[in-house]
Amino acid sequence: MLLTIKTTRYPATDLGYLLHKHPAKVQQFPLSAGKVHIFYPEATDHSCTAALLLDIDPVALVRKGADSNEFALDQYVNDRPYVASSFMSAAIAQAYSSAMNGRCRDKPLLAEEALPLEINISVLPVRGGEALLRELFEPLGYEVLATAVPLDPQFPEWGNSRYFTVTLRHTLRLQQALTHLYILLPVCDNDKHYYIGDHEIEKLAEKGKGWLDTHPASELITRRYLRHLGPLTRQALEVVLKEEIAETPAEKPLKDKLRLHDVRLQTVVDMLLELSVKTVADLGCGEGKLLRLLKDQPSFTRILGMDVSLRSLEIAQSKLKLDKLPASQKDRIQLIQGALTYRDHRIAGFDAAVLVEVIEHLDEQRLPALEKAVFGTARPKHLIITTVNAAYNVLFEKMQPGSFRHADHRFEWTRAQFREWAEAVAERCGYAVSFRDLGELHETYGGPSQLALFNLLTN
Ligand code: SAH
Repeated sequence: MLLTIKTTRYPATDLGYLLHKHPAKVQQFPLSAGKVHIFYPEATDHSCTAALLLDIDPVALVRKGADSNEFALDQYVNDRPYVASSFMSAAIAQAYSSAMNGRCRDKPLLAEEALPLEINISVLPVRGGEALLRELFEPLGYEVLATAVPLDPQFPEWGNSRYFTVTLRHTLRLQQALTHLYILLPVCDNDKHYYIGDHEIEKLAEKGKGWLDTHPASELITRRYLRHLGPLTRQALEVVLKEEIAETPAEKPLKDKLRLHDVRLQTVVDMLLELSVKTVADLGCGEGKLLRLLKDQPSFTRILGMDVSLRSLEIAQSKLKLDKLPASQKDRIQLIQGALTYRDHRIAGFDAAVLVEVIEHLDEQRLPALEKAVFGTARPKHLIITTVNAAYNVLFEKMQPGSFRHADHRFEWTRAQFREWAEAVAERCGYAVSFRDLGELHETYGGPSQLALFNLLTN
């Protein structure tokens, strides 16, 4: 597998400074199962190309034992030595580590500069073909040229293979280009990754920073990148995509004003105080942002956080510093794992329960189950539910019509849709319900988010 990076920015040989690799030298680095060679096929002031050649040793690959449970012959007869794109990521990270971290020792400003780059990759396996390649790279601004390799040039009627020679053109910082390749090459391949480990989720979050969360295919990228990670993928999706759930990607333009999520949370706290609530359950508490606010209010004597995601609960636990609480406070706050679609008596008996931006993460057909669990079993005196207001989406510049604010949203409702659902539930379950807009109000579309307050009717 060969990766070349070319620039024409004068003097083009500055690429050598950026990559920390001298254009006149041929260099080699050992990898866990092979070697990387770096050399420059051309190096003039007007055009300079750095080549990274990945030379995988198929026997070393097998010795590593990565595939030990699989079909024996398959270990030797496969395309990995030629196309192992997860190794290409590892090679990029190793050979170009300074550049990937945005450092340029001798000419630091170069690392900050957007350069005209042409990247060529051969041979790249792409499960999903040219359409997928475009889906991955075009939203990031690349011009994509892809040539499929025929299965056998002798027999054109056999058609094309899933291998491509790909050229990507864009003007951007080298660091950005390298992190894009680092994540997206294995995503194209979608085959086994030999390096998946505990830190892979963090790596994805770190390398994807600033572009992955707003990428229209972010969910597909995360799933594929962490393929074979099984149940962890779900957690990763939460970490990578939902960490920012509080303030979903499309809501970001609001940041400079007042962060929408802070408004939501503060409104909820104020309402709970106004209702003289003493005990409260935060259902779908995520990483515990609301719990932190509740914890600071002594009038709340019992606080419960519940979420289906263990990973989120772990983050909540550390952010709340529960281990360090004095004994007198320990019983006041509790975190539990649970799903809002099953009856659970642990969430019953509270003055109030809140679901902040949770319902849109459930499939709509699961809402009757949530209704039973929350309105039926938990049955708090007061219940606050917030959800995004779909009508407001037209005001977010970056959003495509018909898309959702977040990859994990299963639906988004307008104010009328939310009202219709909430009023029907209130009617069935013996609650009175009232509504309000959250966030900066637009005359026609309302607020970016919306809230319903349910009060239990006593007779
Ligand atoms: N309320 C938090 C998190 C909102 S994100 C906040 O406002 O910051 C939605 C949360 O709902 C996630 O943490 C997710 O794990 C949780 N969730 C999704 N489906 C759930 C279910 N069926 N039961 C419990 N929690 C669920």
